[in-house]
Amino acid sequence: MLDGNEALVDCRLCPRLVAWREEVAREKRRAYQHEDYWGKPVPAFGDLGANILILGLAPGAHGSNRTGRMFTGDASGEFLYPALYRAGLASKAFAISRDDGMELKGVYITAALRCVPPENKPRPEELRRCRRWLEPDLNLPQLNVILALGKIAHDSYLDYLKSQHQQGPNGKTLSKGHYPFKHGATYRFKNRPSLVDSYHVSFQNTNTGKLSEVMFDEILTQVKALATKEI
Ligand code: SF4
Repeated sequence: MLDGNEALVDCRLCPRLVAWREEVAREKRRAYQHEDYWGKPVPAFGDLGANILILGLAPGAHGSNRTGRMFTGDASGEFLYPALYRAGLASKAFAISRDDGMELKGVYITAALRCVPPENKPRPEELRRCRRWLEPDLNLPQLNVILALGKIAHDSYLDYLKSQHQQGPNGKTLSKGHYPFKHGATYRFKNRPSLVDSYHVSFQNTNTGKLSEVMFDEILTQVKALATKEI
């Protein structure tokens, strides 16, 4: 967790999300009835010297809202961490709990929203509010590339750049229309980390073949190549 982010786990700025994260933690899924759910905002995780930031959407109800660590304990993580391991970016292929000994190499993982939203659908004002927790991660000192998992993550980075008065192509004001979300797309910005887009690693995408292991391995190869270049 970044310095100053300790306050994150006590954040209650979004009443709808506070109520939902706690209800899920109370009700639990039958398979996890014996477990204590985390039920709080989920901290970012990984290597503070990372040159790659993986930016997801939000905690999974019975994944990181249960375990307290990004992408840990659900189908999304069962797809993501083996891919990071194959790419040499994680010490282990499987993430089970906060104390499973997983270490990331050159990678930091965060999310646009730190509390699980009902139906995985955050509201714009919730994303805006939660940007305060995302900003330190977007400013990690060694960061060269941001891998956005899905359109909401992609838009969150662009919204942040706009808030910082980042210029778009030809020195004009940055507009999201210049940077459409597209799996495999790479966008570069002056003095800021590049953006690479991927479909989200959700079960909905990986189970239907919208995102295959081969496709995601290719994305990680692309990201690693960019990460070693100066911005
Ligand atoms: Fe706080 Fe973000 Fe959770 Fe809202 S979503 S309560 S801003 S941590």
